[in-house]
Amino acid sequence: MQEAELAAQEGEVPIGACVVYEGKVIARAHNRRESDKSPSAHAEFLAMQEASLVLDRWRLCGCTVYVTLEPCLMCAGLMINSRVDRCVFASYDPKGGALGTLYSFHEDERLNHEFQVDGGVMEDECSAMLKAFFARRREERKQAKQAGTFQKPQATELTELERARNQINTIDAKMFTLFHQRLDAAEQVARYKIAHNLDVLDSSREEDKLTWAKSQGPQERENLNCQFMQDLMDLSKQHQHNIIDSNQTNDGKHTNDNSNR
Ligand SMILES: [Zn+2]
Repeated sequence: MQEAELAAQEGEVPIGACVVYEGKVIARAHNRRESDKSPSAHAEFLAMQEASLVLDRWRLCGCTVYVTLEPCLMCAGLMINSRVDRCVFASYDPKGGALGTLYSFHEDERLNHEFQVDGGVMEDECSAMLKAFFARRREERKQAKQAGTFQKPQATELTELERARNQINTIDAKMFTLFHQRLDAAEQVARYKIAHNLDVLDSSREEDKLTWAKSQGPQERENLNCQFMQDLMDLSKQHQHNIIDSNQTNDGKHTNDNSNR
């Protein structure tokens, strides 16, 4: 609960955990999801990682994990993987609890480890702490909204989104240009090969491919696989030079395109 309080002071959802081995607290941690910008920074997850460092082994047999909220799928999974002896938690989590509420990972016989679970210990105190935190946060947001200061982070977020969207549009436009540059270059090669009766069979197939590729809309282009896009980026510069070369010089220059493909 002290760890949960620390989390609340840092603006994190107040969840705390500790690991006990041979009657001693060997590791303790609180939720740091926001501070660490990490989806795995749950209190008990961090505490178990620390306990492994302290014991200098990945197996946490002999350990009991205490946590103020029922562990999620990820943390319950880590308890199985680390072979903990027991987990004691306070509040049940109707939206994510994996040790009795939504799932019962600790007593699933299909898994290679089972462990003891005691839920609801000091449930009232820990639930009250969570409820108070969320009530306080709602109140803060309400006040910020009234004071007009809440608009700022929202606006920043929208700016970020807009910036990301523009980046994607720029990339897409760039891709579109590169795609057509490559097709133009390839088309010149194909036409040259057809005109000069070089490798006719391949050339006609190539032209089929070109016709297909040129008929694709933006959505289909998006669906083109990454490797193709990578090839495209790698080759586009080369082809761009070839287009310039072949536009500026005589027909014979086209054979360069051929060798570069
Ligand atoms: Zn978790």
